[in-house]
Amino acid sequence: MASISFRNVTKRYGDVVAVDDVTLDIRDNAFFCLFGPPLSGKSTILKLILGLEQPDAGEILIDGRPVTHVSPAQRNVAMVFQNLALFPHMTALENVRFPLVERRMEPEHIRARVADVTEKLHIGHILHKPPAQLSGGERQRVAIARALVRDPVAYLMDDPISALDARLREETRVELRRIQREMGKTLVYVTHDQEEAMSVADGMAVFENGRVRQTGTPEDLYRRPNSTYVAGMLGAPAMNVLPMELAVRMQVADAPDRAANLGVRPENLRVGLGELAEITEVEPLGGFTTLGLSLEGTDLRATLRGQPKFTAGQKVGLTVDPGRAHFFDAGGAAIAAH
Ligand code: ADP
Ligand code: MG
Repeated sequence: MASISFRNVTKRYGDVVAVDDVTLDIRDNAFFCLFGPPLSGKSTILKLILGLEQPDAGEILIDGRPVTHVSPAQRNVAMVFQNLALFPHMTALENVRFPLVERRMEPEHIRARVADVTEKLHIGHILHKPPAQLSGGERQRVAIARALVRDPVAYLMDDPISALDARLREETRVELRRIQREMGKTLVYVTHDQEEAMSVADGMAVFENGRVRQTGTPEDLYRRPNSTYVAGMLGAPAMNVLPMELAVRMQVADAPDRAANLGVRPENLRVGLGELAEITEVEPLGGFTTLGLSLEGTDLRATLRGQPKFTAGQKVGLTVDPGRAHFFDAGGAAIAAH
């Protein structure tokens, strides 16, 4: 059991502000994603939770208790390291047992823990093999088992599956989601992949330059981004953002006076008869089709279901699904409009 909270936490390395006045609440039992581009402070957040780094300002609480003076060992938070390297001279079983043997745990207890974890990870049948005889996916699962076997209050993972190919990544993230539910533990998970964050997270925080720009469920952040930054980080193709002078050509209703830009997701752009924009590109992707469009020289993207009959060079009309327009002020902050 562990909730994790940050209260105005700042961490500097010389002149670099790695973590900048971060306030965060991670619920007990959540699959919580720290999401942002490289160097935005995600790994530093994990080191602060582990106790490998101390904040320069602010406070970190685990289960409501400040941990400033609690050693990493006493915090009992487990990091699943990025490379997930197994010991090559040990079998899978010896690898999984290792953290407990190292802690001189009772053999009975070790057997029970290992049985529990290896069953949940479906690796019971490969435990006798050395890593060299395992597939990439099996090695990954054994490494995860070794990390989970300790029974800590929370797990931390720093971009654990970014090195895998696309198919294996998808399988592993589904697997991690299932394991996290079964283990019933808080998991703080770093990723720079928006699809991964959106698909696994109960809650997430979007980072930029050490700051949290927004927190919420993936659906919240997707539907109600508080800024053009967050809007642009989630969703592929990215949200179209265009100046209001252009947007009025699409007859967007209810635009607030302060609005400087309109944001519209590719799936909320309606393409129909008209002369407003020109199709520059048609990309059929099976279940849906992505169109490139030019509206007076500004490039837009639209995603349509199926394979509609459009061709490059064709003139079309554009409107926005009612209630699906986002408005932003000149500074990029969202304006509540509807
Ligand atoms: P992320 O994990 O999002 O890529 P990091 O937390 O690793 O970001 O880094 C945030 C910022 O802090 C970066 O500018 C990085 O260069 C800097 N930084 C991280 N660790 C150190 C360190 N040990 N010494 C100096 N600078 C560091
Ligand atoms: Mg990192």
